[in-house]
Amino acid sequence: MTAMTKPAVRTRIAPSPTGFLHLGTARTALYSWAFARHHGGQFVLRIEDTDVERETEGAVQQIIEAMQWLGLDYDEGPIHQMQRLARYHEVAEQMIAAGTAYRCWCTPAELEAMREAQRARGEKTRYDGRWRPAPGKVLPVPPAGVRPVVRFANPPSGVVTWNDLVKGPISIANDEIDDLVILRPAPEGASGDAAAFGIPTYNFAVVVDDMDMRITHVYRGDEHINNTPWQINIFRAIAGASAGANAVLPQYGHCPIILGDDGLKLSKRRGAVSVTAYRDSGYLPEAMLNYLARLGWSHGDDELFGREQMVQWFDGSHLAKSPAQWDPAKLAWVNAHYIKQAGDARLAALVRDELARRGHGEAAGDLEHLARAAALFKDRCSTVVELADWVSMLFMPVRPAAADLATHVTEAVRPALHTLRERLAELPAWDKASIADAMKVTLAAHKLKMPQLAPAVRVLVCGRAQTPSIDAVLALFSRHTVLSRLAAA
Ligand code: GLU
Repeated sequence: MTAMTKPAVRTRIAPSPTGFLHLGTARTALYSWAFARHHGGQFVLRIEDTDVERETEGAVQQIIEAMQWLGLDYDEGPIHQMQRLARYHEVAEQMIAAGTAYRCWCTPAELEAMREAQRARGEKTRYDGRWRPAPGKVLPVPPAGVRPVVRFANPPSGVVTWNDLVKGPISIANDEIDDLVILRPAPEGASGDAAAFGIPTYNFAVVVDDMDMRITHVYRGDEHINNTPWQINIFRAIAGASAGANAVLPQYGHCPIILGDDGLKLSKRRGAVSVTAYRDSGYLPEAMLNYLARLGWSHGDDELFGREQMVQWFDGSHLAKSPAQWDPAKLAWVNAHYIKQAGDARLAALVRDELARRGHGEAAGDLEHLARAAALFKDRCSTVVELADWVSMLFMPVRPAAADLATHVTEAVRPALHTLRERLAELPAWDKASIADAMKVTLAAHKLKMPQLAPAVRVLVCGRAQTPSIDAVLALFSRHTVLSRLAAA
């Protein structure tokens, strides 16, 4: 690479497998992905799995599934940090040799005593640098039986400044941050690479990875702002040594947190926070993508746009500096839009999956029939779950509310319902036009108007007083079901 050529854009998302793909992580994944695609660059999936204790069963699979569902395709990965332990160890050793890292033999008890003394003096608690080498300094003798950690020798003075892609210029003084542990020995009893090389801490592994993976732009949540000065300093220390010669520091962009509709940080305790939970609640991936994109980014007044459009627009500008608020009503509106647009065959398959989850897969019948039902009901639905609620009346028993029965299935209408039932039973063909004819003949015979008869039929057959056009709805049912439900009149 010459000084004149810019490196190709490479972004990454680096979830920890401690649970499902969180909405906040999905949003930064989306921005990172769209930014890479916009620039014809690459997008990497990295799994930050060094916190073995907090890893949950199946989390990696869930993350991959959620990324696939959203259509966030990655060019490299998943790369697991636990498979790179030799590399972190190698870089740490090079840093020790270069004097930018050092071993520290403090025991947890010693560190606690250090902090206690600092608190007693009213000072900020921090590592006091007792094992940090310095010219002319005589270091303590390493105690027997203690396995040392490796600490980064943070520059003692000066400021770390970066021009945040979201928040603008940020500066943090070096004397605010202390010598971070970058590598720990593996817990007692560990084997393999962990025992041989130790386990890196988050801030160290991230830097080595971003450097090795030639990441140019990092978008992540702003809870990481305080980590960034360490990462920049560590990056520079490595880039100055053989391990990272010629490495270019990524640009960092920190997106504000997402607030729940109660104004508090979105959290598990207050509703769904995982992408897959929304999939399972009947949201379409294009709606999720569109909604997440707008939650913290704008393109003029545009509210509804697809993936290609977003990739065309997303150049990293217009990212919001202040927190966005999760708005379930808006998400439902966006989803309703995409449900209306969705093909009936696709909706039919989704409805069948949903009905199968309810244990009604067998009854749901063929996809072609479900597609006709989806076509009729989709305009009234915000989610696939709602659509399945509508469709299920076709083959699951309905329970009309007593109030609806009392209001609509009156003495005045009952004789007409009997006539209609007879007419329907005799129809040569069971289709919308024939059903409409039977209704018309019945109304004329009883001198009734459609608004008197139709709601009664709806309540009895569909279990609700409002539906799309009654002839079209009845045509979706089997004749047998309609006749037996009307018999209850
Ligand atoms: N594993 C970190 C997280 O899930 C990644 C942060 C980063 O993108 O650097 O928050």
